[in-house]
Amino acid sequence: SLPLDEKLARPVLTLDHVHCRFGQHKAVSDVSLHINAGEVVCLLGPSGCGKTTLLRVAAGLQAPSEGSVFLGGDLVAAPGHVHRPPEQRNVGLAFQESALFPHLTILENVSFGLQALPKHERKSRAMHLLDRLGMAGLAKAYPHTLSGGQQQRVALARALAPAPRVMLLDEPFSSLDARLRDQIRDDTLHVLKEMGTATLLVTHDPEEAMFMADRIALMREGQVVQTGAPAELYCNPADPFVVNFFGRVNVCTGPVRNGSVLTPVGHLQAHGFPEGSEVTVMIRPEAVRVSALPDDGQNQEASHVVMSKLLGSSSLLHICAHGAEGQEMHLHARVPGVFLPPEGQPVSLSLDMSKVFMFRQ
Ligand code: ATP
Repeated sequence: SLPLDEKLARPVLTLDHVHCRFGQHKAVSDVSLHINAGEVVCLLGPSGCGKTTLLRVAAGLQAPSEGSVFLGGDLVAAPGHVHRPPEQRNVGLAFQESALFPHLTILENVSFGLQALPKHERKSRAMHLLDRLGMAGLAKAYPHTLSGGQQQRVALARALAPAPRVMLLDEPFSSLDARLRDQIRDDTLHVLKEMGTATLLVTHDPEEAMFMADRIALMREGQVVQTGAPAELYCNPADPFVVNFFGRVNVCTGPVRNGSVLTPVGHLQAHGFPEGSEVTVMIRPEAVRVSALPDDGQNQEASHVVMSKLLGSSSLLHICAHGAEGQEMHLHARVPGVFLPPEGQPVSLSLDMSKVFMFRQ
C-alpha cells in the first residue's frame, strides 16, 4: 500500500493490459484503461464485444486471464486471482440484472449500504437519493409492486447512496422509456459529478455515451478501438468502424488522381494519400449541403431528390447524385429545419469536409 498523497495522484481505477478468456473464446483482449476521480468513462460497443466482461473484471466478479486491476495504488486483481472481492472495494454496482432485496422496502433497500451512518442520517441520505431519481413517493413500497423501470432507478439509488469512490454501471437506464431516460440520465450525471465518483458505464447507445461520458472507450471484438472525448471520436474517428458506430453514413470509393478523389458529389482533396491508392470516402448525412436548382428543364442532368422526410428538428433527403463524369450515387442528406423539396427536384450538392472522412482501403 502507498502513502495517501501518492494514492490521490493516481487514477482511481486502472485496468492494465487486461485479457479475459472463456475456454478458446477471447472476450477481452489487451485492454488498458484508467479512470480519474470525478470522471465518467463509457464502454461503448455492439452486443457481445466484451463490455460486461470488462466491467465484471473491474468489479472483482471475474478474474482477468492476463493483466492486472488497480484501485488507487493497490493491486486488487492479477491473472487468475481476485485479491480483493467486490464487497471490499468501496465500489457501487448497478448491473442490468441487479436484484433488489424483496423483503425490504424501497427505503430499506437504498439504506442498506449505509449501516455505518447514524440512523437518521441513513434515512435522510437514502431519501435524498430517492428524491433525486424521482422515487421518493414509493419509499414505503416493496420491490415486487414496482415496474422494471422503477426497480432500475431504485437499484441506481442504492448503488449511489454510500457515495463510493468507484461506480460501475451496466446499461443502468435500459428499462426506462425515452422521456424518463433523459431525465434520469441527467440526474444521475449530476449526482456522480457532485460526489466526484470515478464511473465506468457500459452502454451500446452512442447518444447515451456522448451525453454521459468525459471519455468514451469504443470496443469491438474484445478490443478498444479508440478512446477519447465524445467529440474526438465523432470528429476524428480512427477507422471506418468508429464512423459507422455513430450513425449511418454514405460510403463511396475511388482512386486518388492528381491529389483528389472523384465522387458523385465532386472532386475531394485527398491529402496524404498516395497517388493511385484506393480510398473509402465516408460522408455523414449532415455533411451534405443541398440547394434547390430551378426546375426549368435546364437541369435535367443535375442531381435530384428521390424522397424527403421530416424527422423533427431536421429533414432527411434521399438524393440521386450525378457526378461530372457520369457517376451516380444514392445518398442521404440531413439538413436542419423543415426542407421538403418534391420528388424530382433538381439540386446542387456541396460538402462540409469536416464531416467527411477518408480511409485507405
Ligand atoms: P451485451 O451488450 O450483449 O451484454 P457485451 O459487450 O457486454 O454484450 P459480454 O457480455 O462481455 O459482451 O460478452 C463478450 C463475449 O464473451 C460474448 O461472446 C459472450 O458470449 C462471452 N462470454 C461472456 N461471459 C461468458 C462466460 N461466463 N462464459 C463463456 N463465455 C462468456
